[in-house]
Amino acid sequence: MTQELFDVVIVGTGPAGIQAAIHAARKQTKVLVLGRIENSSLYHGHIENYAFVPGMTTGSDMLQIGVNQAKNFGASFLEGDLLHLSQGNDRLNLKLEDGSEVQARTLILTMGVAKKKLGLDGEKEFLGKGVSYCVDCDANFFRNAVVCVTGDRSAAVDGALTLEPIASKVYLVADELEVCEDLLTQLTKSSVEHIESKITKINGEKFQGVQSIELANGQKLGIDGLFIEMGSKGALQLATLIGVELDPEHMQYITVNRKQETNIPGVYAAGDITGPPYQMAKAVGEGCVAGMEAATYARAMRKKETGK
Ligand SMILES: Cc1cc2nc3c(=O)[nH]c(=O)nc-3n(C[C@H](O)[C@H](O)[C@H](O)COP(=O)(O)OP(=O)(O)OC[C@H]3O[C@@H](n4cnc5c(N)ncnc54)[C@H](O)[C@@H]3O)c2cc1C
Repeated sequence: MTQELFDVVIVGTGPAGIQAAIHAARKQTKVLVLGRIENSSLYHGHIENYAFVPGMTTGSDMLQIGVNQAKNFGASFLEGDLLHLSQGNDRLNLKLEDGSEVQARTLILTMGVAKKKLGLDGEKEFLGKGVSYCVDCDANFFRNAVVCVTGDRSAAVDGALTLEPIASKVYLVADELEVCEDLLTQLTKSSVEHIESKITKINGEKFQGVQSIELANGQKLGIDGLFIEMGSKGALQLATLIGVELDPEHMQYITVNRKQETNIPGVYAAGDITGPPYQMAKAVGEGCVAGMEAATYARAMRKKETGK
């Protein structure tokens, strides 16, 4: 059975994937985008720090507008996940969630990062209503508020220090900190209150959002915001199936150059999956470069194969 061949397949329907689709499709390439906008980290966000879009805009609206824009330039979208990836002669073979298979001349990986969860009741319910996974994105919503950051790695300590001059009080709840000496010194010198414990319960009201947390040591803290900063795990399993290199320090992000090329010819990556800062502006910028580069590469391959 012949599988449909695309010049560019983009894995991910977030800002990086959508922007890549727009730029690739405008270069007369056949483009397929996989994923679901509901799974983009942007979907539940309210954006106020993206240039040219004044005021608060919902992430879900922005994503839908982007998808329509990319479709108008000819990109196809398929709501579903990529399950398996392999490399053949000048082709990448993709197996999709619905059992179908497609081939690609080039691939752009924009799967974002999977934020680690606490797994407690209220965590999902209060997301965007006091619970956040991104200090860089949401710190300013908690000016003069009482906040708690939880996590035992550098992301949590750095987050607590970022919040210190903004919030009226910052708690850091971490059983055992595993961070470098420099961060520990900064933490000790700061007003952040480190409590060696674990969060066991998140309490709140449907409309007011988070109100307090309970800890394993029996303490109850009244808070306005809870930042869960437990490091991030990229959707990297698929990438490593075809030998895409990860950053040697963290092994959590895909290594790319300024053309968004990975170590595998014809395979590109963009957005959160290439590492922090986790911001829409970065994702869109990288998506633009990846889309243009992949399209140029695919067209050269196509010309060599078909003369067109
Ligand atoms: C609550 C919140 C608020 C935020 N606020 C802001 C803000 O104010 N300003 C700002 O700039 N940034 C903000 N961000 C960050 C911003 O949303 C991300 O930086 C941005 O969405 C990253 O884009 P991306 O395309 O790399 O990944 P994502 O948007 O996360 O998209 C990932 C895509 O990959 C797909 N995917 C994953 N695995 C597979 C697979 N196996 N097969 C197919 N598809 C797959 C998913 O379905 C999804 O479509 C916020 C994030 C959160 C969580």
